[in-house]
Amino acid sequence: MNDIRQNYIDGRWQPALSGATREIINPANGELIALVADSQAEDTRLAIAAAKRAFYGKGEWRRTGGPRRADTLLAIADAIKARAEELALLDTRDNGKPLREARADIDDAAACFRYYAGLVTKPQGGVYEVSDGFGPMHAFAMHEPVGVCGLITPWNYPLLMAAWKLAPALAAGNCVVFKPSELTPLSAVELFRIFHEAGLPAGTANLVLGTGPSAGQELASSHDVDMITFTGSTRTGQTIASLAVGNLKKVGLELGGKSPNIIFADADLEGAVEWAMIGVFFNQGEVCSAGSRILIEESVKERFVARLAERANAMTIGDGLHDPDIGAIVSQAQLEKILGHIERARSQGARLVCGGERYTAGSCAKGFFVRPTVFDQCTREMDIVREEVFGPVVAVQTFRTEAEAIEMANDTPYGLAGGVFTSDGARALRVVKEIRAGVTWINCYNPTFNEAPWGGYKMSGYGRDLGVNGLLEYQQVKQVNISLQPGPVGWYRR
Ligand code: NDP
Repeated sequence: MNDIRQNYIDGRWQPALSGATREIINPANGELIALVADSQAEDTRLAIAAAKRAFYGKGEWRRTGGPRRADTLLAIADAIKARAEELALLDTRDNGKPLREARADIDDAAACFRYYAGLVTKPQGGVYEVSDGFGPMHAFAMHEPVGVCGLITPWNYPLLMAAWKLAPALAAGNCVVFKPSELTPLSAVELFRIFHEAGLPAGTANLVLGTGPSAGQELASSHDVDMITFTGSTRTGQTIASLAVGNLKKVGLELGGKSPNIIFADADLEGAVEWAMIGVFFNQGEVCSAGSRILIEESVKERFVARLAERANAMTIGDGLHDPDIGAIVSQAQLEKILGHIERARSQGARLVCGGERYTAGSCAKGFFVRPTVFDQCTREMDIVREEVFGPVVAVQTFRTEAEAIEMANDTPYGLAGGVFTSDGARALRVVKEIRAGVTWINCYNPTFNEAPWGGYKMSGYGRDLGVNGLLEYQQVKQVNISLQPGPVGWYRR
């Protein structure tokens, strides 16, 4: 395989300094699909130096006015749209997800660049009425880019997670070093080709390919990086936050979850079943906000679980390119992790209702597939209720009262998301207000929008992606005070 995907540093494609490469595997069939640079900290340092020169040296991008930065972002959005099918096929082959889900991701990624192109041309900052103890003054605040930003994304939404971070970081005028997951870097490489064609000044956006510990960690520890944002596991988030303390860089963390999906007996049960499936089987359940704990009112539990199992058993499973309901799990390691969770749930006494095993029918034998799995009779001390699985596995528990449902929902160190299904509007709002989580849904589960802020409470992290908050994360606010009466103030006695 001659075509090795390289790092993009200072406007040039270049191999890892060591010359090392790593293999990218299609999880649907185990086939090698690409070789990519396998970078080390020395490569990341090169990229950081390029970003630092671009930001603090010439400063071309940060000095480009908002409307012209917006033009570039719009050109990037157009190019993503123009290459949408190719990018969707890449994400499906790289990650395993069904093609229609990959297509939706690419659409969303283009829309994300478009959204931040619009936002950066809107008023920012403010003008303040201030006291006149030192004579008449005028005070205002302006928003500035943070500087050099390190961005690290996971493998579950390859191009979309890249857009969630790169679009606002670039809109704000920062220079960035981006490290995608080692498992799914291919669409990011194409995105950087698009950046190059769109004319981003050299050093503004740099791409480093490699593993987290080898290539990513330097972004957290380097004193030349002003900010780091990360989406991934809580454990790695903790490592990054502790390394970032060295130069007190700004940190944004979007981490794991074990999110409750609360279903009351008065809900439309057929609708709740379908949304619960979207909540936990979408993207093979490899979703940080997955509604992986279903809390259902005891009186309707049997009916709900029977219907959920019936629908889960009917889901098609296969190579994402054939657009099944459920595609491949991203890697053998993740497959084994999921199967380990299933095994532990069984041994701890949860009742397996459906699924619960690797799926190997036909050509799936060569890939990493798991049948959609429902566990009933789960109790709060079981690992399946406490730990993030990141696979198509859901744990069902029952409650009798609203208060009990809320208490169970919040009984987790995580706080990313939660849902509530009921036909009682006042109850829906009461429950949502009590859920300690950053993203909530009423009578639906999982839709996300570029326009609205996304992020967690508690050990699901801090900071927000998307929406106006997403742009603010990548900005600093500077106070500017102007004397309207130049000359001596007369403060000190002569
Ligand atoms: P990680 O948190 O380890 O990886 C996420 C990203 O962080 C990847 O780009 C990874 O690089 C990078 N990374 C890993 N270690 C470091 C480090 N020391 N310094 C800097 N960057 C690092 O998640 P995994 O891929 O190992 O998945 C494990 C579990 O994490 C999943 O089962 C799931 O529970 C959770 N997870 C949560 C996600 C979310 O959206 N909140 C997303 C993905 C996983 P690389 O992969 O290249 O090594």
